[in-house]
Amino acid sequence: MYFESHAHYDDRRFKQDGDALLKSFPSLGIPYVVNVGCDLRSSKASIRMAEKYDHVYASVGIHPHELYDMSSSVIDELKKLSAHKKVVAIGEMGLDYHYDTHPREVQRFWFRQQLRLAEEVKLPVIIHSREASEETFEIMQSSNVRRGVIHCYSGAAPMALDYAKMGFYIGIGGVVTYSNARKMVEVVEALPLDRIVIETDCPYLSPTPNRGKRNDSRNLQYVVEKIAEIKNVTPDVVEKVTMENGKSLYF
Ligand SMILES: [Zn+2]
Repeated sequence: MYFESHAHYDDRRFKQDGDALLKSFPSLGIPYVVNVGCDLRSSKASIRMAEKYDHVYASVGIHPHELYDMSSSVIDELKKLSAHKKVVAIGEMGLDYHYDTHPREVQRFWFRQQLRLAEEVKLPVIIHSREASEETFEIMQSSNVRRGVIHCYSGAAPMALDYAKMGFYIGIGGVVTYSNARKMVEVVEALPLDRIVIETDCPYLSPTPNRGKRNDSRNLQYVVEKIAEIKNVTPDVVEKVTMENGKSLYF
């Protein structure tokens, strides 16, 4: 059984069949799905999905690409939304220096504000970091938050271990299956299995052999198989441990 720790079923690419897919997951061995908010709209959509399906949970947060209308009243609104009983995390939040959609200073400011919110409402965080490993780490270290996940981790192995020591989980998804993913293989080799959660980040980042196609949680099996191969254990062990990790991260 798989714990889907990061998905975006409110994405327009699931408009046709998202509901049918979500409905089918418990019978396909996917008893938990966390749908992750990227802005207010998708945060609210995640909550609506979580209200509709027992096995779906929501996070609320503002992605570093989506800071257009950011203000302290948005933080207040996130705070209100976070009181919903099926909201299990704040995020995704963080830094994206690849696209630099917003000035870095602005990204850092709202990243810190959301960390503060998570601390205040006592929820774990979901962190997005792209080409900003050092600064993300510094900001995490200087905050008091010690529960959460570095989603779709793309940094080096030693830093992953530092995060693990601080108490964070590392989110591993489709990228680990790519033939050029040497760095991700090293990360999985280095990390204890009890610090890893699995994710799709669907509709993005489909694992091999479905790379390039729309991703969904049924593809978690390929991520699990790859982690099992790297760790030299059976997929069953990876399923069990990452299931426990997902629960202790979010519940
Ligand atoms: Zn995401």
